[in-house]
Amino acid sequence: MKIVIVGAGIVGASVAYRLAQGGAEVVLIDAVRVGGATSSVTYAWVNACEKLASEPYYRLNFAGREAHARIAAELGGDDWYPRPGVVQWQDAEAEAGGVDRTSSEEKFHRLQGWGYPVQMLDPAELRELEPEVDPASYGDRPVILYSEDGWCYAAQYAGRVTAAAQRHGARLLIGRVARLNIAGGRCAGVVMEDGTHIAADHVVNCSGRWANEVLGNPADHLPLKPTSGLVVYTAPAGIGLTRGLRTPSVNLRPDGAGRLLLRAGDIDKLVDGHRPASDFRDQAEELMRRARALLPALRDVPIEAMRIAIRPMPADSYSAIGPIPGITGLHMAITHSGVTLAPLIGEGLAQEILRGEEMAQFAHFRPARFYSGVAA
Ligand SMILES: Cc1cc2nc3c(=O)[nH]c(=O)nc-3n(C[C@H](O)[C@H](O)[C@H](O)COP(=O)(O)OP(=O)(O)OC[C@H]3O[C@@H](n4cnc5c(N)ncnc54)[C@H](O)[C@@H]3O)c2cc1C
Repeated sequence: MKIVIVGAGIVGASVAYRLAQGGAEVVLIDAVRVGGATSSVTYAWVNACEKLASEPYYRLNFAGREAHARIAAELGGDDWYPRPGVVQWQDAEAEAGGVDRTSSEEKFHRLQGWGYPVQMLDPAELRELEPEVDPASYGDRPVILYSEDGWCYAAQYAGRVTAAAQRHGARLLIGRVARLNIAGGRCAGVVMEDGTHIAADHVVNCSGRWANEVLGNPADHLPLKPTSGLVVYTAPAGIGLTRGLRTPSVNLRPDGAGRLLLRAGDIDKLVDGHRPASDFRDQAEELMRRARALLPALRDVPIEAMRIAIRPMPADSYSAIGPIPGITGLHMAITHSGVTLAPLIGEGLAQEILRGEEMAQFAHFRPARFYSGVAA
């Protein structure tokens, strides 16, 4: 079976690997390079603990964590998937005033009941684990430790997994897909920008935020609500922090070679991913100010780089994985939390396309829910 995958981000690379491993003749196409788009500008926390609003979505992401562990064990991924743990505390006033949808206590108990590796730490225990974090930032309240959580160096992962796909015979092609070749309700391949047709029995659209440009026909478009995100890299800091910190003011984590990576949800609302990151210097400095309040050792550490990206986000915020009704030979794999979900999407689509066996975790997340007359 010949399969074309459009987009070699973390999602497309994962799909290419599992399909090639399963015996398909795979062509993986990217307009720019492997892992160079949203997958290179991401916080990349591999987690399900932030997905409590919907149990099926939590279960999907939990399975994503497990699929990460599998592919890391299979391909030697300890260097792209460190799991030192992530510590979280919430805003005391917000919790007391019931502003947070879920308090730390509630969150802990719900996650524990759902089988997540989670612990409550008292402040003295956190001081021992991460002595460089200013205790004033978490005060006298217990914090949550996601003891087995970590993050994925997504571009590194995409490169290694693409190389593994190539060892199974996959071909990597750098070039822009102008459109899918869809006629009579069947997708028969892709048409490249230079006019070349590449025929396929099946196409998987993994082009992230560009999914609809690749789809072409507006009637087939997937409703998207892309959101922008700003990430800031510190200069190499030479501090001892090992875990990720999820705090009311800023999320930060080590990013290799002594750098820290910073982001915050409220700052993301102030930026526009269609503009250059350099337009948002003030917002980047604000992230840095918040990070220094947590980690006084960052006092003289400057910003080394700032990057901006647009998240591929289906309109209801959940994943869109599977066929579009009325078109055979085409699957979509468009999602936020794509770093967490990529290895599972690879496993699931290979199982569905090569063996016709549906992946149970995808059932709530089919693109069909967006197309009129088709039940979710
Ligand atoms: C600030 C921020 C923080 C995030 N934090 C997290 C997090 O903590 N945890 C998590 O799991 N997720 C997180 N995400 C989301 C995650 O990064 C994305 O869901 C994921 O990177 C999407 O991967 P992808 O492969 O679908 O898309 P991309 O990496 O964008 O890949 C799509 C590829 O398609 C190619 N392409 C596009 N059009 C064409 C064409 N016409 N022809 C050929 N190729 C084409 C592009 O060149 C690109 O390489 C975050 C995102 C952002 C921006």
